Amino acid sequence: MYRSRIPTFVKFFLPKIICRLPQAGKKIVYLTFDDGPIPETTPYILETLKKYGVKATFFCVGENVKKYPELYKRIIEEGHIVGNHTFNHLKGWETPLETYLENVSQCEEYISSNLFRPPYGKMTWRQYKALEKKFQLIFWDVLIPDFDLDSSVQRCLDVLKKKTRDGSILVFHDNLKAKNKLTELLPEALNFLLREKYDIRPVPNNISK
Ligand SMILES: [Zn+2]
Repeated sequence: MYRSRIPTFVKFFLPKIICRLPQAGKKIVYLTFDDGPIPETTPYILETLKKYGVKATFFCVGENVKKYPELYKRIIEEGHIVGNHTFNHLKGWETPLETYLENVSQCEEYISSNLFRPPYGKMTWRQYKALEKKFQLIFWDVLIPDFDLDSSVQRCLDVLKKKTRDGSILVFHDNLKAKNKLTELLPEALNFLLREKYDIRPVPNNISK
């Protein structure tokens, strides 16, 4: 079960999480990719973003960065921003506090960032309290169902078109589940956003606390 938007009660319990960055009178969306880098999808995403002249924020999994340091280097060299997404893509609700925090620290050995996104958007209150001191906790306003094998490219585009609003943080996936949709979905999505006159930006790493 997943929802394309973070429900209000989650923001009530975890008040400092960031789902959207609206700026008065400005049409901006923030583009993010989760779970990479991997050779099957990251190079295509980087080439496409370059072609469109767009920068994004990549929430990377530490073990992937360890395996593919060149791809990680390329993300940074091409001007994108990176964030911590744990070392082993852990599920917060199923992981004890110490184990979770150690995994985030292990990821920090490979990824230097003040941005953190919990895998599956799930973290316990104690994990939240421990991490919000150190990181900006970046969730999302629109979750594209590209990771869902039962969701078509058209369905992903429908979610994008229906849910995107000023300041939305959008999530796409830089992983194997999204691979088969990516080559059709990503250009279509960028074309839509540009046609709608959105300024497409990465989630910045200097959001004030
Ligand atoms: Zn993830």
